[in-house]
Amino acid sequence: MEQLILSGRPVADAYKETIKKKIDAAKAAGKSVALAILTVGKDPASFVYRGRLLKMAESLGAESRCVELAETSTTAEVVAEIQKLNHDDTITGILPMMPMPPHVDQKAVGSALAPEKDMDCLNPANGGALLMGQGRRAACTPRACLAILKFYNIPMEGKHAVVLGRSNVVGKPAALLLLQENCTVTICHSRTKNLPELLQQADIIVAAVGKAGFVTEEMVKPGAVIVDVGINVTDHGITGDVAPEALEKASAYTPVPGGVGVVSNVMMMDALTAGL
Ligand code: NAP
Repeated sequence: MEQLILSGRPVADAYKETIKKKIDAAKAAGKSVALAILTVGKDPASFVYRGRLLKMAESLGAESRCVELAETSTTAEVVAEIQKLNHDDTITGILPMMPMPPHVDQKAVGSALAPEKDMDCLNPANGGALLMGQGRRAACTPRACLAILKFYNIPMEGKHAVVLGRSNVVGKPAALLLLQENCTVTICHSRTKNLPELLQQADIIVAAVGKAGFVTEEMVKPGAVIVDVGINVTDHGITGDVAPEALEKASAYTPVPGGVGVVSNVMMMDALTAGL
């Protein structure tokens, strides 16, 4: 069977071109386009991710500002910083890096974000709008999944999509976006009883579990389309949630690395330009 590799790079490039034009036009009109990235403490993964976003913002002509709070910052201090950024007219979008230290109430941080500056759909107002099929501020990663499927003209209407994972940042919004495309959607999670049987029925699999090789060969229907969101650091390097033998049965799949992750970062910049 001939397979289509759903590489993220061409999708990202297509978006970047449009985003750059929007940023250039906004700047020419005297508007500021700037992403504020707020970190609390020194989570290494957050700093790696921040570095990538800063580079991308710069390459597209957007400004960025790093706000670094101490590990010991209280929820009130983090919220106060977000409120300052909310009221700063030179800041277009705000991304508080998660996870924050456990003593910080992440829900309070998300709720403090001005909905129009909330870059990764952390404010429940944006989550609610997504549920109602309104607004466009779904989190960046699920939007990246959908952008890839659309870019490669993968038919979605009437297809059975099985989403593995129900986190607020990936699984749940991915399921809602697939529903908006008229998929029939099943969401699986750690308490799902008959997960292999459900997966075997999937025309489209979105895997966001965070476990290397979780989806095995016998779980995949021949010809299924697989979107592998997982990023797992293993002895063999970075791998997704889907085993190589399982990918072989797919008609199309996103590689890891080089698939969803590449497009997710661009979606952050797309969110930044949404209101321009
Ligand atoms: P998460 O918050 O840890 O959620 C994982 C989900 O997987 C949960 O809903 C959990 O179920 C489910 N799960 C865990 N073990 C399971 C099992 N044995 N059977 C069935 N379901 C199981 O992770 P996340 O933030 O959604 O991220 C998921 C993966 O995507 C991670 O590898 C992460 O690194 C990656 N990621 C990639 C990008 C990107 O840009 N490519 C962006 C974000 C995340 P319960 O809810 O029942 O616990």
